[in-house]
Amino acid sequence: MKLSEVDRNKLAPMMKHYVELKDKYQDVILFYRLGDFYEMFFDDAILVSHELELTLTGRQAGLEERVPMCGVPHKAVDIYVDKLIKKGYKVAICEQMEDPKDAKGIVERSVTEVISSGTIISDTLNEKENNYIGSIYNFEYCYVLSYSDITTGEIYSKILENDDNKLISEVVSLGIKELIVNSRVDVNIANIFKNQYKIPITITDNIYDINDYEYVVENIKDERYKISINHLLYYLIVNQKRNMTHLQKLKIIKNNDYLKMDIHTKRNLELTESLRLKERTYSLLWLLDNTKTAMGSRKLKTWIENPLVDKTIINNRYDVVSKLLEEFLLCEDLRKALYEVYDLERLSGRVALGNANARDLLQLKSSLKELPTIKYILNSINFYEDIEVLTDLYNLLETSIYENPPVGLKEGYLIKEGYSKELDELKELRSGGKNFISNFEIEERERTGIKNLKVGFNKVFGYYIEVSKGSVNQITEDMGYIRKQTLANCERYINPLLKEKEDLILTSEEKIINLEYSLFISIRDKVKEYIPKLQEISKVISEIDVLQSFALVAEKYNYVRPNINDNNEIRLIDSRHPVVEKVIKDEYVSNDIIMDKNTSILLITGPNMAGKSTYMRQLGITVIMAQIGCFIPAKEGSLPVFDKIFTRIGASDDLVSGESTFMVEMKEASNAIANATKNSLILFDELGRGTATFDGMSLAEAILEYIHNKIGCKTLFSTHYHELTDLDRTLKHLKNKHVAASEEDGKITFLHKVKDGSVDKSYGINVATLAGLPKEVIDRAEDILKVYENKEKKRDVIVQTTLPLDFEPKESEVEKELKNINVLELTPMDAINILYKLKDKIGK
Ligand code: ADP
Ligand code: MG
Repeated sequence: MKLSEVDRNKLAPMMKHYVELKDKYQDVILFYRLGDFYEMFFDDAILVSHELELTLTGRQAGLEERVPMCGVPHKAVDIYVDKLIKKGYKVAICEQMEDPKDAKGIVERSVTEVISSGTIISDTLNEKENNYIGSIYNFEYCYVLSYSDITTGEIYSKILENDDNKLISEVVSLGIKELIVNSRVDVNIANIFKNQYKIPITITDNIYDINDYEYVVENIKDERYKISINHLLYYLIVNQKRNMTHLQKLKIIKNNDYLKMDIHTKRNLELTESLRLKERTYSLLWLLDNTKTAMGSRKLKTWIENPLVDKTIINNRYDVVSKLLEEFLLCEDLRKALYEVYDLERLSGRVALGNANARDLLQLKSSLKELPTIKYILNSINFYEDIEVLTDLYNLLETSIYENPPVGLKEGYLIKEGYSKELDELKELRSGGKNFISNFEIEERERTGIKNLKVGFNKVFGYYIEVSKGSVNQITEDMGYIRKQTLANCERYINPLLKEKEDLILTSEEKIINLEYSLFISIRDKVKEYIPKLQEISKVISEIDVLQSFALVAEKYNYVRPNINDNNEIRLIDSRHPVVEKVIKDEYVSNDIIMDKNTSILLITGPNMAGKSTYMRQLGITVIMAQIGCFIPAKEGSLPVFDKIFTRIGASDDLVSGESTFMVEMKEASNAIANATKNSLILFDELGRGTATFDGMSLAEAILEYIHNKIGCKTLFSTHYHELTDLDRTLKHLKNKHVAASEEDGKITFLHKVKDGSVDKSYGINVATLAGLPKEVIDRAEDILKVYENKEKKRDVIVQTTLPLDFEPKESEVEKELKNINVLELTPMDAINILYKLKDKIGK
């Protein structure tokens, strides 16, 4: 039965309320609280029962048929909400706003929060990553992208030029989980986010116009930021009903504050996830992350994605790392202290959002306990010397929160003795009552002479006196027992004294629970006032945590402090690729990367598998490590500050539409040469291989010339077009390099050593041998290669003697085919198929 087909007039009152509410939350699954359950009805029920494999039941609702219903217990609601959010749905939680006992008519209910992938705050969130919700506001001539992590209260904005590819690249590379866009944003873009990247999207033009969050944009003049922030706030505060009191001040990300790289570069260099498995393992982040806190781990990721361009700040970071390495004992103490620090940022978020429980406050307390130690260490290394240690907050929590509290807040056991006189008195009354009960039992046994008389308690009758059937006859009227319940083998009684005490115990119990709850809430509210300070402390802790992690990897893997130079020189001695070095079984062969100020391009040749791509990535990663303040994998290093990195390495998928690899390749190349400055770094790996040989080669050459003559930035360019190596004669800032391999009896050994000059052999067939292609195929390929090489020579001669080209002897079919084969790109299967085909042709 669908909701749209229902005659609403016939619905029972509660169901009518549900339906009206559901109208307001059409694209959201509505969890409707009924007693101990959240129920879903109609289409939501059918959908959810299907998605979560729950039983679909029905409910009488005034119609002839029962309406579809499905429910989840309120205690376990988080698990179900989580699952739905992961599947891309949004969930609205509708609570009972009054105790059903007190309700006149139907119980008052209303939606208290809406949860979606960008606003979820559950424990299952990855603590090592920010969970961003973003707003895109299209101002026609530019976009403003604002994004916030509501678990921590961070909020950022940046202005992006009106370029769809860049917008998409930015959103994807930030890993934004949910988007709000204004209606001017092109639907096609919205659809790409929704369908290709599975990012839930809400289109709305609503702007938050109450100024209670003015401080967020304080001192910001540019109206566009304010509009964008208020666009996001409207959704969070009004739609999602979030309390955002922990929102920090807006941080504007300016275009030139950080080293720029697009999503392809981040992926190609495997900064935060590996290309093949798309996960953290084997990424730079994975290698460098020895942080002790979740905050540190998140900060490291942000740093890696946003390397610095300010030499002074970079050097400041090196200074701290050096200091930590020198003061290794202090550094160990720092690590121990950090290890005890919980996720202060998210704890503050939970406090602000009103879902911190007593255990969270205990975590806060344990974290605060470490602050004096941390401050002492920071002072010794001259880093953020004036952090606050919040002794008063620590003392408050230390004196108030019970050591071993339950998860819930309505079960008591939250508040320590000595914190509230009123509470302690109530507790005394309660324990007095309980003492009375145990004494009462002993006394009654004596008075009645019934040895197995017991005093028990249940929810229906309260306290009772239980006497076994065999002893019932010993009860006499003067004892004042009133029979309450008869069971198979015993009778249960009460008496006035017992009931009087029971009343005392039960009311004090209830009072205790209520009082503890309200004391807790007022403590939590006090903590709320400290949130800005806690956020400030979190920032310092996360930074020092990343820096100690840098110190750790520097020591463990022998990294050195680079020198940042101003004369546009790269000088890396015995440089290594930090991840490959750690992962491979063999010894890593270190290489120098040296480009003085007069060298712009290194043209790198060498057989497949020699190590060309690794060498190029190695430089890219080293530059990023250097510019985030981390020591680098080399024996010695000097680098300039780069403003942008462009890469074209391997096949990267296209962000917008399914364009061919070659098209994407050319787009990336064109993006690079259009935007690179003389301070950029370009890494082009076998550019042009996606098209026919001569096309590709010509393009590669033209691009090299352009970079050389017009841009002059540092560029590594690997190629399998050996013809290009002649360019060093005409391009004076270009140098040839090759990655050496040695061949003995047709067997190839990769030395991975980068040397001056070029090689003119590609060893494709040797590599194929290593790959285990059958000998028959290899032998045949050798023969074919010889024919091919002869042919090339012959043609060279012809061309050189400037004979008209059509003098060339006519090619046979087989020769023609052979010419078109790019041996380097054949898969073994292709090679076999082609051989069969060729043999077939000769046969005819
Ligand atoms: P190419 O791009 O020249 O085909 P790659 O850079 O992909 O070669 O490297 C091929 C393999 O050689 C990689 O899997 C890597 O493990 C190994 N390798 C590359 N460079 C080195 C090195 N300097 N030392 C040790 N092994 C290396
Ligand atoms: Mg390669």
